[in-house]
Amino acid sequence: MSAILKYVKFPPILYLVIVAPLVLVAACATRLPSTSPPTGAETSDSTTRAERLPSAAPTSPQMHEPQRVEKAVARAAAKTGKKPATKTPAPVASEQHFDEPKATVKTRPRIPPPPPLPPEQNGQVSRICQRVAKKLASISLDDCLSLALRPAKYYTANKQPIVVREFPPMSNRKPLGRVLLIGGTHADELTSISSVFKWMHKLKRYHTGMFHWRITPLLNPDGLLVNKPTRTNANGIDLNRNLPTPEWQQLSRDYWVKTTGRDPRRYPGPAPGSEPETQWLVEEIERFRPDIIVSVHAPHGIVDYDAIDRRSAPRRIGILHRDFLGTFPGSLGNYAGVHKGIPVVTLEMPHAYVMPSSQQVTHMWVDLVYWLQRNVPKIKMAKTELNGQALSYPTLDN
Ligand SMILES: [Zn+2]
Repeated sequence: MSAILKYVKFPPILYLVIVAPLVLVAACATRLPSTSPPTGAETSDSTTRAERLPSAAPTSPQMHEPQRVEKAVARAAAKTGKKPATKTPAPVASEQHFDEPKATVKTRPRIPPPPPLPPEQNGQVSRICQRVAKKLASISLDDCLSLALRPAKYYTANKQPIVVREFPPMSNRKPLGRVLLIGGTHADELTSISSVFKWMHKLKRYHTGMFHWRITPLLNPDGLLVNKPTRTNANGIDLNRNLPTPEWQQLSRDYWVKTTGRDPRRYPGPAPGSEPETQWLVEEIERFRPDIIVSVHAPHGIVDYDAIDRRSAPRRIGILHRDFLGTFPGSLGNYAGVHKGIPVVTLEMPHAYVMPSSQQVTHMWVDLVYWLQRNVPKIKMAKTELNGQALSYPTLDN
């Protein structure tokens, strides 16, 4: 442009009308992004549309910047007319929020890392970490490998291991309770997986034994590790409708046919607990006997609570406000929360593809740990008082 201006003389009026706008356009063009904005993508559970997280596309580390993510959230909110949650101020996280009274933070004992895995299992974890890191922009290979995940000896239809990590109690401290944390039940809810990974890193850094944690960040690896992530597992079954709740045969099919109109994304399966992922979950609940379960989903942007007594339901966890979505035949909230007396906190991220900012991720974690700290002892006490009033629930055998 400057070369042209140097050699061609324009009358002043022509310069104002033709050349000046051209110069202006050229200058603006250098400031615009070279790529078109992300395409819309269907979110999993509602009619809202959010912009696609780079998670589903090739990894792009720059996209993790909170500002950029928040802009994406704002754009998605503008499309849906939903107020963005990005302006909620997050508290400044300090160590005592995570687990420990401030005075003892500096001297708290560190948990030893788990022992190394045998080569075969180590290879399985490395492979699944490589594949997960390719799908989720906010999780690097190192992020995944450094968590020392272990295969749970349960394999999906596509021969993927369900990987878990335990953060055990300290030898010198009685934990307040056992917490089972689950992400990625619906694998197209990408933020439900990434958020759990992020929280595991916080635990890795700050865990002091206040709770005994068992965590799987990805219950449904087959649903994630395909070209286009799916809500269902490799057999086309909604894992959150496949748990063996009472009268499953009748109720789940009725619900699927009459309420969902045979929605294939909500197919409950041929039998209760028919899927390896569900079998692992049922057995893990039996083995670990959690006092509470935290299950992460998207994109409703709320916190739900399924329990026999819902009075202590969290009113707010970070940017998520309380709302009750209802219980469904075969869902975890129904199975564990209602029929087994193990309360289930369901955290619904605001978007399936757009990660909350790192401040918001921290804010949710701080609020969750604080709520657990105040309520798990009460929940355990109430359960002890029930003592003997056994809650009947079916097992995989009947
Ligand atoms: Zn979900």
